[in-house]
Amino acid sequence: MKEITWYFPSTLEEVPELLKKEGVFAHGGGTALLRSNLARVEGLIDLKALPLNFCRDSEGVIEIGAGCTYSQTTEVLQKIDSHNILIPALSGAASTPLRNRITLGGSIAFFPVWSDLMGPLLALEAEVTLIGSNKGSFPLVEYLKKREIRNRSLITGISFKKRELNSYYFRQSRTRFDYSAFSISILVNKIASLPESLCASSSPSAYTSLSASRIEEAVIVIVGCRNKFTRLSSLEDSLKSCSPADLQPKDIAGSLEVEFAAKKNYSPDYLKHLAAVELERGLKAVLRS
Ligand SMILES: Cc1cc2nc3c(=O)[nH]c(=O)nc-3n(C[C@H](O)[C@H](O)[C@H](O)COP(=O)(O)OP(=O)(O)OC[C@H]3O[C@@H](n4cnc5c(N)ncnc54)[C@H](O)[C@@H]3O)c2cc1C
Repeated sequence: MKEITWYFPSTLEEVPELLKKEGVFAHGGGTALLRSNLARVEGLIDLKALPLNFCRDSEGVIEIGAGCTYSQTTEVLQKIDSHNILIPALSGAASTPLRNRITLGGSIAFFPVWSDLMGPLLALEAEVTLIGSNKGSFPLVEYLKKREIRNRSLITGISFKKRELNSYYFRQSRTRFDYSAFSISILVNKIASLPESLCASSSPSAYTSLSASRIEEAVIVIVGCRNKFTRLSSLEDSLKSCSPADLQPKDIAGSLEVEFAAKKNYSPDYLKHLAAVELERGLKAVLRS
């Protein structure tokens, strides 16, 4: 049986040299590594002794260490940013023992299509901090799109702005423990605008109480679709400056422009139908809240 060499760095300065070695990979929670083909793995870098287990909340930006598990992340966010979309998303992922192991760094680097982490992080427009062949902070989207940034780099932290946004997270799965077929992350920032008497909509509706507010910003991310993830930018643009009272979530969801590949138990059309239904529900929920 092949022997894998373990490395146990205790300072970040030791890591870049280790990452240069052929076949040597970081070991976060190990939940993906241990299920993958280890034939290409010559060595593993244990991250436990590195200073990757932190949470900083400074000048409106939250930074969480890449070594934090899903459980640690939800626990700390409940104290410092209790509305954060990551809380419902990560609390519903996998099982308790797995949430106690899965790390943020490993989940970003691995990015499975069933990820409960990536939709919320993409919606939050998070940045990743790297060491190794690429040192510095990079928008998460850039990290995902550019292989040259990812290669031989270690994620040390994930940061995002702390903001009071209305949020909604949905994961499609047949049973609670199933991998999700897709997830929807919605963030909306509503601000008070016109006095109620000046608003166009005076008819009684579920949203009448919101007629004096307008949507300043909306972010909608679907993970698990054909391109792995997509941001519904044109829908986001069409929501901006609208009054929630004037929106028809059913019409919006009906024109959903996302394609899915077939998955176990789901045809592409059925997945699209489910996504449209859940998008409508999600929009109703965030616009009302
Ligand atoms: C049965 C099961 C069910 C699951 N269900 C869900 C679910 O519902 N939702 C969900 O979100 N996740 C779920 N997961 C977790 C998901 O599938 C991955 O296993 C997990 O995201 C990997 O994280 P990790 O910390 O264990 O990474 P590891 O297995 O340690 O590493 C994964 C990859 O990332 C690299 N890596 C690790 N740390 C870093 C770092 N800091 N910087 C750069 N690269 C790094 C490794 O070298 C490796 O290539 C489930 C896992 C299992 C086993």
